Amino acid sequence: MPEPLFRRLALIGIGLIGSSVARIAMQNGDLASEIVANARTQRTLDRVMELGIADRVEFDPAKAVEGADCVMLCAPVGAYAALAEAIAPHLAPGAIVTDVGSTKQSVIRDVGPLIPEGVHFVPGHPMAGTEYSGPDAGFLTLFDGRWCLLTPPPGTDPESVEKVAELWRRCGSMIEIMEPAHHDRVVAIVSHLPHLLAFTICGTADDLADESRQQVLKFAATGFRDFTRIAASDPTMWRDVFLNNREALLEMLARFTEDAQAMGRAVRWGDGAYIEDKILRGRVIRQTLIELKQA
Ligand code: NAP
Repeated sequence: MPEPLFRRLALIGIGLIGSSVARIAMQNGDLASEIVANARTQRTLDRVMELGIADRVEFDPAKAVEGADCVMLCAPVGAYAALAEAIAPHLAPGAIVTDVGSTKQSVIRDVGPLIPEGVHFVPGHPMAGTEYSGPDAGFLTLFDGRWCLLTPPPGTDPESVEKVAELWRRCGSMIEIMEPAHHDRVVAIVSHLPHLLAFTICGTADDLADESRQQVLKFAATGFRDFTRIAASDPTMWRDVFLNNREALLEMLARFTEDAQAMGRAVRWGDGAYIEDKILRGRVIRQTLIELKQA
């Protein structure tokens, strides 16, 4: 087994993502010699100890990061600013602070200025997830074959970037370094907009008259069922993602709305060729995803 990358890894937030990292760290032993977990509630910390997925839990984030050479923020991005303020004075010199948040410009804006001199900040985003949340939701293979995007601001210590990249490789991920604004646009279309559509379509179905709503649920076809799976995601996490990737999400929504209107127009005027062409493009995208092993 390779040497552990870190002496002490502090996970600030231990839900789906944090607890998956914790499980891998505890099982493989090559991420860190000691895992410390912090969460917002004592209930989660008690559950973490029951599950045996950390060596130690700390209710106070400041205490959790003391002596840690790697700190990973795994809470909803809207909580980052307050968490960064709480931990900043307690970070060990030379430590690496990284994160898993789904938005990157906001994280750099909220956390970057609070990182003390001599501490390295390497923002990251594992492109893996499910609709479940909390410490019970994590699992060992979550990151297998998935991309992890790192968005280090200019001038970030290359050795720290490489250590974070190696952590994710040991979790099973492939690494891509990306510019933060580009990251936010890419995830707006591949992740944030699909979630917005799923939440909206479930709302629309729920707003239908009582009788039709019951029919919707009773006869839910695969199309609607697939949307309901995505729509079951954590409200706090997704509220924070939408509010912290506002510009890119609104831009993608505007483009989508135009395209949806065009599809509606084709339906109205019986333009079968247009409809068929769009469906064929969808099939090509699906086929490409399968070939890239990301389906
Ligand atoms: P989660 O399962 O809901 O867990 C969130 C964790 O953060 C919990 O341990 C929670 O503690 C803690 N926390 C600390 N401060 C909080 C606050 N103010 N409000 C709510 N929770 C707080 O979330 P997750 O799915 O692991 O997501 C964590 C991060 O990963 C987010 O930034 C998200 O954008 C990113 N991410 C998520 C996915 C995904 O598909 N879920 C994929 C990639 C990246 P308690 O349990 O005590 O409340």
